Amino acid sequence: MPLITRFAPSPTGPFHIGNLHIALYNFLFARKEGGKFLLRIEDTDIKRSDTIMTQNIIESLKWLGLEYDGEIYKQSDRFQIYREYAELLIKNKLGYFCYCTHEEIEERKQMAMAKKESWKYDRKCLNLANMNEIQDRPRAIRFLVPEGKVSYEDRIHNKMERDAADIEDFVILKSDGTPSYNFACVIDDHELNITDVIRGEDHVVNTFKQVLLYKALGWKAPKFVHLPMILGPDRSKLSKRHGATLVLEYREQGFLPEALINYIALLGWSPGGDREFISFPELIELFSLDRLSPTASIFDIKKLEWMNGEYINKMSDEEVLDRIVNFHENREPTCPDAECVGKTENRDYTNGVDAGPLTRIKLPENREYMLKVVNLLKPRMQKLTAFMERSAYFFNDPKEYDKEGMDKYFNLPETIERLALVKERFSKLEAFSIEMIELAVRELADELGIKASLLIHPIRLALTGITGGPSLFHIVETLGKETVIRRLEKALAFLIKAK
Ligand code: GLU
Repeated sequence: MPLITRFAPSPTGPFHIGNLHIALYNFLFARKEGGKFLLRIEDTDIKRSDTIMTQNIIESLKWLGLEYDGEIYKQSDRFQIYREYAELLIKNKLGYFCYCTHEEIEERKQMAMAKKESWKYDRKCLNLANMNEIQDRPRAIRFLVPEGKVSYEDRIHNKMERDAADIEDFVILKSDGTPSYNFACVIDDHELNITDVIRGEDHVVNTFKQVLLYKALGWKAPKFVHLPMILGPDRSKLSKRHGATLVLEYREQGFLPEALINYIALLGWSPGGDREFISFPELIELFSLDRLSPTASIFDIKKLEWMNGEYINKMSDEEVLDRIVNFHENREPTCPDAECVGKTENRDYTNGVDAGPLTRIKLPENREYMLKVVNLLKPRMQKLTAFMERSAYFFNDPKEYDKEGMDKYFNLPETIERLALVKERFSKLEAFSIEMIELAVRELADELGIKASLLIHPIRLALTGITGGPSLFHIVETLGKETVIRRLEKALAFLIKAK
């Protein structure tokens, strides 16, 4: 039988890091074994399911490159099928109608609790004496849990066993006609010929119920793997406090899908050794369920940022530029001027779709020039957005100067004279090359009997408006003589006026 895995999210919220972990392992396992990876949308909870969330899931998978095979299966298309199976269980005396209302059940539960007794459904409707009284009431269908032990093999946790007496007769078809998660899941996993179910540890309790259903329906259960949770560095459930939780937020913040995949793949699995950088094709080649960790892993946003930066740094300038351009694709050009280069605005995906103001930054069209800027910024870029945040001065004259920088480098009485000399030397340079620029600055420093840094800092502030960044000589060369002279003149005019 061919190996088939599936990712079965409920579209009740946007696709998050935990979803990515599960989807990725299912995907890698299927691809590694030459099997299939299916996508099933578990939207039986009509009130809480939202097609916008389904779109969010699909868009996230697409961005990550986790392609599923065939069509998408939607449980809401299959209500009739679940009903038929529920009726079959009734017919075989493995299920029964339940007329108890939610309030009645709550009341009995509360009474038991008041007596400090545990409570599970008391089978009140199993052998109803007087049907007439309640026939008109809405009714659910419950599964009649058999006696004995229920067990299954888990690839991480080995043999899992429980006494079925601890499991109540759970609802398989609700009174509104929709199936419960466990019931729909079993029927679909069977009908789709799923061979391996890889999901979160939080489903262990469900698996026992599902194993009982497989037995009752006379079907073979798939193999199960329950993955430990991903936690924040403080070992609590992963949440906003630990960084973004939604995958499209990571896209929005300028992460690369391959870096995110590489990082997440290693949370709970390792190929052996201490390898940290593993490409997508290599992950497929190396992935195996034998090397899954039985303990929770810690999500560390700092490490992910570092890894993303390494990915960017290893890429060619061309590739990084393409990614930056891509990053801006399909955004509304609400800010089409070169003025916007230094600004970024993140879209908010909390509600599943991009909400709020979108800013597409119009990137300058001169590719050669852009490539040079990319080359300079790339080594310190942890995210694609860093380009937008740090490249403003390559496209626009500074409108103001960094306050602290001014106190440090512009306030010396000699600054005006020194910058004037720099301007003069630069204008005389015939070859405006990195070497000649550096030589000019160093020679001038020697002649003035000062350290070169006393020239470099104020020049940088005059040209960029800020105090940090790539090597000054490279910046000067990239900006070009005309721009450099103009900006030095502007800075001089500013300093003279402020005197
Ligand atoms: N809809 C369930 C969830 O999102 C699926 C669990 C499973 O994989 O069976 O948790």
